[in-house]
Amino acid sequence: MLFGKTFPWSRRGGDLFTLTTYIGVTIVLFGAVLLAVVAWTGWTSNTNAVERERTLVENALDQSIIRVLSEQKSVAWWDDAVINVAQGRVNTEWADVQLGMYLSETYGHVEVYVLDSEDRSVYAWVDGENAGPAAFARRERDFAPLLREVRTGSREYPRTRDQAFVASQAAYRDLLGARVARWGGHILSVDGKPAVVTAITIVPNLEFDLVQGTPYMLVSVVPIDQTFMSTIGRSLLMQDLTFTETPAHDSAHNVDVFRADDGSTVGYLSWTPRRPGRGLLTVILPLVGLGVFAVGLLAQTMLRRLKRASAELEAREALAQHEAKHDQLSGLPNRRHFVEVLQDSLDSLLQRRHGERVAVAYIDVDRFKDINDTLGHQAGDALIVAVAERLQSVLGPGDFIARFGGDEFAVMRRAKGEADGAELADSLHSAFEQSFDVQGQNVRMTASIGLCMAPDHGMSPAELMRNADIALYQGKNQGRDRAMMFCAEMAAELEERREVELELERAIEAGGLEVHYQPVISCKNGQVTGVEALLRWNHPVKGAVSPAVFVPIAEETGLMPALGALVLERAFEDSKRWPGVQVAINLSPVQFRHVELIELLQYLVVKCGVEPSRFVLEVTEGVLLEASDRNRETIDALRELGFRVALDDFGTGYSSLSYLSEFRFDKIKIDRGFVTGIQERKRALTIIQSVVTLGRGLGMDIVAEGVETEAEATVMRLVGVTELQGYFFSPARPAEEMQGFIDALAANSEVVGRVSAPSIKRIDARS
Ligand code: C2E
Ligand code: CA
Ligand code: CA
Repeated sequence: MLFGKTFPWSRRGGDLFTLTTYIGVTIVLFGAVLLAVVAWTGWTSNTNAVERERTLVENALDQSIIRVLSEQKSVAWWDDAVINVAQGRVNTEWADVQLGMYLSETYGHVEVYVLDSEDRSVYAWVDGENAGPAAFARRERDFAPLLREVRTGSREYPRTRDQAFVASQAAYRDLLGARVARWGGHILSVDGKPAVVTAITIVPNLEFDLVQGTPYMLVSVVPIDQTFMSTIGRSLLMQDLTFTETPAHDSAHNVDVFRADDGSTVGYLSWTPRRPGRGLLTVILPLVGLGVFAVGLLAQTMLRRLKRASAELEAREALAQHEAKHDQLSGLPNRRHFVEVLQDSLDSLLQRRHGERVAVAYIDVDRFKDINDTLGHQAGDALIVAVAERLQSVLGPGDFIARFGGDEFAVMRRAKGEADGAELADSLHSAFEQSFDVQGQNVRMTASIGLCMAPDHGMSPAELMRNADIALYQGKNQGRDRAMMFCAEMAAELEERREVELELERAIEAGGLEVHYQPVISCKNGQVTGVEALLRWNHPVKGAVSPAVFVPIAEETGLMPALGALVLERAFEDSKRWPGVQVAINLSPVQFRHVELIELLQYLVVKCGVEPSRFVLEVTEGVLLEASDRNRETIDALRELGFRVALDDFGTGYSSLSYLSEFRFDKIKIDRGFVTGIQERKRALTIIQSVVTLGRGLGMDIVAEGVETEAEATVMRLVGVTELQGYFFSPARPAEEMQGFIDALAANSEVVGRVSAPSIKRIDARS
């Protein structure tokens, strides 16, 4: 079978997977980046803040050097200073007051020295008192680079001061001349402790001529201790800026190494940094982390739901797709699917070489409706499933089978030649050789098969399916249980049938149909005891059309209920012409099964004012098939209304004697097939004898139909048949003629039609 195509939506599932993966990765990346940005911002703003504070401290220290220098400047740039200390002899008294005391007490310069042109100490003030020039000896070595720097302008320390510092140094020089006006300051290690050490040349402020040669120099030392740092801290709003000799490590403080300008470590600075990023790191970052996590979680559940929903959707789509193309009951592909596959095959047929064909077969289970009606719809369904399985079992892997609904199936086979079509027909037919097990019952079924071939009989699915249907129809018409290959004549025949259909419809409307009556003769007295109503259609062109032709058409096209009602009413009315004579009326299977049959009869009985007991309703065997409750009930209901019921055409179809005991008939009509030439048919005679025995035993009348010869009439009479009907006595005649016929027989007239009443009497006499 041609199932199992890949579905287009399996690719879509892959797309969804990629999409969700993308979304997931994006969320994770986005979350990570967001966290990193927040963390980085927090961290850098912290480190930036520390960096800034560090710079502030640096600047403050630079400023303090400048401050010390300007303090020195207030005395060093002064004519008096030059006169008192820088001209060979030091006025110690003056120096103590104006330099030592003034600088130490006013500005906190702990050590003050005056050096001559050769950098030899000429005056020293240490710790609040004149210490004598020799006190400088202990500083001489340490301060030498600073002094050199001031004297020569060389660069002695790795540490350089900022631009403002250098600028102010230059300004001083410009003012007094580069030769004499010089100063410099550094933070140096003094006895292992940091101190601001500055040196400035002592120069006149008014009388520039006072200085001849190299000027003297004033040197100051201001220790950087805790008090010094606290002052800086307060001015910088860094309240706990502390100077320590050993590092005090704790996480709350920032601890920096404090280096002198020569690079040596002289202690440690520590302070509590402001950490503006702390809020970010301790509050925002966790919140963002939580948010990212929540978003991730939400996205994950949403994606999972999306996946599940789309998986369900896909499954439902697949199911719907499958259902749209398959029949629910049998699971086989449906008509739509069949047409698609057939179209594909036809397309590929066009591309192949000559000689290849595609065979299309229609299969219709014969009398399936009877199964449904007699055994019920569940049994019908079970049979359909069984037939579907059986058909599949006789087909090859390249065949495609579909169910078109009801009891119709279709098969498509790629064929090499016409012989393959016949082979297909044979295998399909063989599927019905064995009986089917339907809910525990063994049921023998047959099927009609219609075939056609592409390209011989068409190249479109519609055309091929129509032609296979025509062939099937033909097979059904020819007695079912056969396979027919489509041919052009069939189409013509069908066309003609269609025409008949239309004309019949018009004839019914225009009242172009008549009811004739065929007399039924009693074997007892040779009198007319009944008549059978038979439809007659006089076609304006075709002449008399047999009811055997147009009744089946009326049944198929839905005209039968109207036609049947017409016959019933006409026969009810006509019956009034011959009181005392039974009137038989044929009920077609469609009429018999019609739900409103009883109501219709009741209505007509009242309308026409007739007595139901005068009427015999003839039902054919085919209607019954199985002894279903519904059939039994219908027959009982008819009899309850007062009608008599006859089993018509007995011996044609299923011919089961069991019907006679299962249904309560008033009459059996033995079919013409049993009657014709009966005098020479021993076996048929034996059967008729047993039917008559059984029937009469059950209190039924037995009618022999189609009696055409005297011999047939005689044999039937002898066997015990109660009534005779046939051309030997009379064909069906118009209602108006019937009374004359009845009267003639009653009057024992010599010749009525082709037979005389006495001839029957003669049979009587011989028995
Ligand atoms: P049927 O019910 O078996 O009717 C008897 C048929 O046998 C009639 O054919 C009748 O003309 C024919 N016949 C009678 N005697 C002889 C004879 O000696 N030799 C031969 N060869 N035939 C004889 P008709 O009228 O052509 O009807 C054919 C069938 O059409 C009927 O078979 C019946 O089944 C159906 N039919 C006719 N009228 C009606 C009707 O009003 N309603 C229904 N439902 N079916 C009808
Ligand atoms: Ca009949
Ligand atoms: Ca009959």
